[in-house]
Amino acid sequence: MSNIASQGAKPRRFMIVGAGQSGLQLALGLQREGHEVTVVSNRSAEDIRTGRVMSSQCMFDASLQIERDLGIDQWADACPPVEGIGFAVPHPEKPGEKLLGWSHRLDAPARSVDQRVKVPAWMKTFEERGVQILFQDAGIEDLERWTQSHDLVIIAAGKGEIAQMFERDAQRSPYDKPQRALALTYVHGMTPRPEYSAVNFNLIPGVGEYFVFPALTVTGPCEIMVFEGVPGGPMDCWGDVKTPAQHLERSLSILDTFTPWEAERCRDVRLTDDNGILAGRFAPTVRKPVGRLPSGRAVLGMGDVVCLNDPITGQGSNNAAKCADAYLRAILAQGEGAFDADFMQSAFDGYWRYARHVVEWTNAMLQPPPPHVLEVLGAAQGNAAVARRFVNGFNDPRDYAEFFMTPDASSAYLRSLAPQPEAA
Ligand SMILES: Cc1cc2nc3c(=O)[nH]c(=O)nc-3n(C[C@H](O)[C@H](O)[C@H](O)COP(=O)(O)OP(=O)(O)OC[C@H]3O[C@@H](n4cnc5c(N)ncnc54)[C@H](O)[C@@H]3O)c2cc1C
Repeated sequence: MSNIASQGAKPRRFMIVGAGQSGLQLALGLQREGHEVTVVSNRSAEDIRTGRVMSSQCMFDASLQIERDLGIDQWADACPPVEGIGFAVPHPEKPGEKLLGWSHRLDAPARSVDQRVKVPAWMKTFEERGVQILFQDAGIEDLERWTQSHDLVIIAAGKGEIAQMFERDAQRSPYDKPQRALALTYVHGMTPRPEYSAVNFNLIPGVGEYFVFPALTVTGPCEIMVFEGVPGGPMDCWGDVKTPAQHLERSLSILDTFTPWEAERCRDVRLTDDNGILAGRFAPTVRKPVGRLPSGRAVLGMGDVVCLNDPITGQGSNNAAKCADAYLRAILAQGEGAFDADFMQSAFDGYWRYARHVVEWTNAMLQPPPPHVLEVLGAAQGNAAVARRFVNGFNDPRDYAEFFMTPDASSAYLRSLAPQPEAA
């Protein structure tokens, strides 16, 4: 492999705070190029493996390809694939019936590997390959020290407290409050979908969204149920839940009430483990990428730190993977140049050219769907080409700008369509 050592260049020193999707992925990419990398984690591999679930982390093909290219996609065989995406809206007047219901296969499967499985395994692999991991909760004084001893300090601390040091970008953050009450329920024993596996996405106007898909967790293959309740609505109902059993019971009662076709699949479900549940909420937030320490020295934000999306479109881990990939390319292109604030801003700008499409789409999905959105989703029911294009947008959301995001783009697209066979 040609890396900087083989080219006679000097290795650079990187400190990455946060051992999640983006931090570990970038660390490995840099280490492979011959650089010296340390990752800081405030939790041990064992803490993570035996702790609570953090995400539903469904990753689409372009993100998985980044992992494949780095040789760190270790679960292609063990993790059940997500082969398609289904979309349903309950009928407002006919209880138990769907107003809309269609699905289509993805061009290439997605996968969700529980971060409790992935992160400890990556930590082990990476330590074997020479990435050093420091176990501590990094604070501002540590950052001050590391900015002096390292060429670049990157903060990939997710929703950790330390992300607050990055200024919120008000122009790019239309919401200052959480837009959904979130909950996760990891289960075994769900009846599989007929034909092919998929993310079953149910949009319940005024109530929220429920989606479910196969994954790999600490106890083996499972299904992850994701609840996105409109604040103050009937799916914002987790405050009085005290035990894992109550959490499962509440999950099932939501399905009985709003999506009985999903409840049908759940007659025999049980929790994967007592930590296979989560409830919480956060405001979607874009932050400025250059963080200033009290000394004036700069650090670079990555992943959720700079671009925290609501999970409604399942993009956070995908974004984290793509952000780490964009930063890796920017760092390598910089050669022996300085990793100063200008570099940091331009590395982020490169990523933002992609991420802004994800943010705009995700933020739009948090609003009640406007007529042009319903038209495209309705057209997908009778036209497999529309369905295929919509589901594959999850892999590369930049395409939504071309046919979905605005009334003009969607009506031009729908007018351009030749008659097609119905979606499966
Ligand atoms: C309910 C829910 C469902 C989701 N579903 C999906 C989905 O289906 N698909 C998808 O793509 N994304 C999904 N996401 C989002 C996804 O999980 C995140 O966007 C992704 O994990 C972000 O990666 P990251 O590297 O930025 O941070 P993280 O993966 O959060 O990693 C950050 C790490 O930094 C550590 N840390 C924090 N502070 C410090 C500190 N001071 N010192 C040292 N370490 C520190 C943390 O402990 C953590 O391990 C979901 C999120 C939620 C909440």
